[in-house]
Amino acid sequence: MNIDAVLKDIYTQVQPLLAQGKVADYIPALANIDASTFGMAVTLNTGEFFGVGDYQNAFSIQSISKVFSFTLALRAYRQDLYQRVGREPSGDPFNSLVQLEYEAGIPRNPFINAGAIVVCDSLITHYANNQLNAFEQTLSFIRACCHDDSINFDQSVFESEMQYGYLNIALANLMKSFNNLDNDVDQVIKNYFQQCAVEMNCQQLSRAMLYLADHGSDPITGREFINGSQAKRINSLMLTCGHYDASGDFAFRVGLPGKSGVGGGIVAVIPGKMAIAVYSPALNKSGNSLAGTKALELFTTMTGLSIF
Ligand code: GLU
Repeated sequence: MNIDAVLKDIYTQVQPLLAQGKVADYIPALANIDASTFGMAVTLNTGEFFGVGDYQNAFSIQSISKVFSFTLALRAYRQDLYQRVGREPSGDPFNSLVQLEYEAGIPRNPFINAGAIVVCDSLITHYANNQLNAFEQTLSFIRACCHDDSINFDQSVFESEMQYGYLNIALANLMKSFNNLDNDVDQVIKNYFQQCAVEMNCQQLSRAMLYLADHGSDPITGREFINGSQAKRINSLMLTCGHYDASGDFAFRVGLPGKSGVGGGIVAVIPGKMAIAVYSPALNKSGNSLAGTKALELFTTMTGLSIF
């Protein structure tokens, strides 16, 4: 299979779509991003790499960071984590308050905002006596997965999130009132927004996700991050919950575990074979990259590679 040719073909086919979505504008730091950008990268489990377009453009990974923090929390707490956060699709937007109230402050899954906030709280507690705080641990884990110590977070995106974070702060307060947060709301929210503001490009993201394509271990170095059963759970949740209320549509169209972020990135995993990252900041109505979703659908259609 000629992956280079497939990526070039996809690049051409998505061009008309770039004008159709809408860049995230809930914070000023993301509102001015060039909507015409498109990049895609594939890293095989062998280490072979393919990229097209703006695959080296760094962007705000936003909710893709939830995969890394959930991995750390699952490693630390195992099954016990599910007492505080569920594993069912929400069928609701990523920042919905309503369901959280009905369900007594237990978020449906770790990939909606409320779930990721609980995960941050659990990591703050877990790393309380450690030299590196929970966010620094998450960042250092991302760097280890990617084999790249240059990865960092964008201070201006972080500050913008803090300034306009009313809804996320409300989610955190609601969960605190249901006794589902151990630490201070301010501390948890700061950690959550720092991880959302991490910047990576498609090449780095496709490399960093490889552990989920090889049962929890980096297929290139052999380093085990989590066990195979935990990797299976994370992939399953990415398939069922990785795209908020459009998770069913993504699974239907693409047929792969994936996670999106409002920064315009999407990662997808083909277990045993490769990880893929795509970036295009113009979003569809559910807050997922419009051209990015199409690009992944084209990829699995053209290559015949999906988990089904
Ligand atoms: N920082 C965003 C928020 O919490 C992340 C949402 C996303 O990427 O989907 O609103």
